[in-house]
This record gives sequence, C-alpha cells and structure tokens, in this order.
Amino acid sequence: MYTGTLFIVSAPSGAGKSSLINAYLKQLNSPAARVSISHTTRSARPGENHAEHYYFVDHHEFETLIQQDEFIEYAKVFDNYYGTSKAAINQYLKNGINVFLDIDWQGARQVRNKMPTAKSIFILPPSLIELEKRLIKREQDSAEIIAKRMAKAQSEMSHYNEYNYLIINDDFDDSLANLSAIIKAESLSTDKQNLVNQAIIDQLLTN
Ligand code: GDP
Ligand code: ADP
Ligand code: 5GP
Repeated sequence: MYTGTLFIVSAPSGAGKSSLINAYLKQLNSPAARVSISHTTRSARPGENHAEHYYFVDHHEFETLIQQDEFIEYAKVFDNYYGTSKAAINQYLKNGINVFLDIDWQGARQVRNKMPTAKSIFILPPSLIELEKRLIKREQDSAEIIAKRMAKAQSEMSHYNEYNYLIINDDFDDSLANLSAIIKAESLSTDKQNLVNQAIIDQLLTN
C-alpha cells in the first residue's frame, strides 16, 4: 500500500507550475515531498542540469526506455518526448513521500488510469496576456518557441475540468497558500488517515 500521495500538476507552459511546486517544497523544507524528475528529449535550457531538472536523453535512448516499459506515462509535447519513469516515483510513494508530477494533460490521463488514487491540480494564468508576459519574462525560450507555446495554451487549458482542483495563479503568495491547503486537506482525508493512523483508529474501536 502506498502511503505517499501522487499529485499531478498541469498547466499551460508559463502559468507558474514549476515556480509553485518549487516554492511549496522550499517552504515545506522536509524530505516528506519531492518532485519527480522526468526524462525529456528537449535540450537543456541555460541553468538546467541533467538529473536535477530533467534526465536529458536523445530520441534513441527514449525509445529504448519505452520498449523496456520504464515509463508510467509518456507523451509528445511541443515536438519532444517527455516521460515519467516508474522507478522515479514508486519507491518514494511506498515510503510515505508525496510526489509531484509536473506533466501535461495527456500524461495526466495515463497516470489517472494506472494510479486512480492520484490527485490532480490544474493551474491557470489570470489571462492570456499575463501568460505571454510570464513566458517572455522567464527569458528561457526564443520568440518562436514562445509563440508555439502560446498557440498550444488554449488546447492545454481546455482540459482543466479533468482535474480534482483548480488554482488561478494571479497573486503568487495566494496561489502558494492554496496549493498548500490542497495538500494539507488531502493528507487529512479519511482514506489517507486510514492508512497513516490505522493503529490509533483500531485501538479506539477495539473493546
Ligand atoms: P514548462 O511548461 O515551462 O514547464 O516547460 P517544460 O519543457 O518543462 O515542459 C513541457 C511540457 O511537458 C509541459 O506540458 C509539462 O507538463 C510536460 N511534461 C513535463 N514532464 C512530463 C512528464 O514526465 N510526462 C508528461 N506526460 N509530460 C511532462
Ligand atoms: P511553468 O512551470 O508553468 O511553465 P514557471 O513556473 O516557469 O511556469 O513560471 C513562468 C514565469 O512566470 C516565471 O518567470 C515565474 O517567475 C513567473 N510567475 C509564476 N507565477 C507568477 C505569478 N503569480 N505572478 C507573476 N509571475 C509569476
Ligand atoms: P518545458 O519544456 O517547458 O520544461 O515543459 C513543457 C511541458 O512539458 C510542460 O507543460 C511540462 O509539464 C511537460 N512535461 C514535462 N515533463 C513531462 C513528462 O514527464 N511527461 C509529460 N507528459 N509532460 C511533461
């Protein structure tokens, strides 16, 4: 039985999901949660490191991993492959560690089918104009790549209704508080308490 919770987080590129997840983990400052490191065929951006932000692999290596059934999910996003390896998450969940998946809606569907207890969160920007501003401000993608991401934003956002929770990331601190509240509420759900506090509950109900 997994005592950690798998949180799927999706958003159009630039809405702030990586910033929110990282700020949550920093604030938590505990080994009780971590973000899963995906494999991708896209090239590293300045400042991105192998095995820290992604495992950067070429197409051939990625296809070998698919054949070896290493992925719980994978998808083609913006002409590159992205995937989550089973090894990256199962061990943590078994040990009671919450794992965040920063993945697109196609991957989210695959994970929901395989792990129905996963909880999913969608992050929306307050407007399309603000989304574009954030992509520009991040200074990590060329104008051509930003245009491609903006063109895809509405189709990604159209899947928000498939998720358990929705955060509109306008004020960053409010959104961080909302993300923390979702995670806290989930940890107090009866299903989770039955796993984590079984001994106390058993004792209370035994004569
Ligand atoms: P970002 O949108 O700025 O975070 O850009 P990234 O290049 O980091 O991610 C590109 C897209 O791939 C996003 O839609 C992510 O949610 C998605 N993605 C990242 N990792 C994974 C993964 O392991 N699996 C799947 N299915 N999608 C992923
Ligand atoms: P994603 O991971 O969804 O692609 P990022 O976390 O990289 O998005 O955020 C994109 C940019 O927007 C970053 O420069 C980040 O600092 C900024 N950003 C994130 N959330 C907010 C917010 N609430 N207000 C203003 N800027 C934000
Ligand atoms: P970026 O190239 O900006 O890092 O990521 C682009 C998109 O790919 C983001 O929306 C991100 O969530 C998604 N993505 C990153 N890793 C994975 C992954 O392992 N699987 C899937 N399905 N999507 C991913």
